[in-house]
Amino acid sequence: MIPLSRRLAPEFPAMPASTSAGPRWEMWCDWCGEIHRHEPEAKHHKAGCAAGSGSPYRWTGYYLYPVSELGQASNVVPAVLRPTQHGFAKALKGCSSQVAAHAVRALLGTSKPKPCTKKQIGQAYVVVDGTRWHVRSEDGGLCEGEDLLNLAWMLYGLRSGAAAVQFLELLGCRFDDLAAIEIAHAVDRWTARGRPSRGGTAS
Ligand SMILES: [Zn+2]
Repeated sequence: MIPLSRRLAPEFPAMPASTSAGPRWEMWCDWCGEIHRHEPEAKHHKAGCAAGSGSPYRWTGYYLYPVSELGQASNVVPAVLRPTQHGFAKALKGCSSQVAAHAVRALLGTSKPKPCTKKQIGQAYVVVDGTRWHVRSEDGGLCEGEDLLNLAWMLYGLRSGAAAVQFLELLGCRFDDLAAIEIAHAVDRWTARGRPSRGGTAS
């Protein structure tokens, strides 16, 4: 029987790349917000996430499939990830517990974010105004959108679920790997169906 951890293992696209250590596949890890390198094989892999990253993929591993014969590392990074290479985990470590608590309340829809905040992250300027935000990058590109989970994706390439779990952990919640995966999946499904508010109908 396939163990539960293996059944929960996500699947990621990987880009073949040649490195000094020989051919490798490079994948964008949406938990760590960085590239991990692996043996070039379409199979289940042990996660490249660092010990202490809190990534539940260290428990589940993941499956990789190649997406191009002519890839390069930058192609596995989400196209939206323009302004910064700073990791989400690092950014969260630098933020106070009040800011985190505020972010989580906004995330859960129990309060509005501060009316207008402007912050420089890497080479980009991030402006959050009410529930809307926009990011102006070094090259003058402008991206805009709504809500903090989408902003986490835009800045750090993190899926909503991974971002939500990391916000909650910053507040002192602790989850085992199964709970982290389940919460992340639930939030991903919730955002995919348009995030109905409490009292709305989940379908
Ligand atoms: Zn990772």
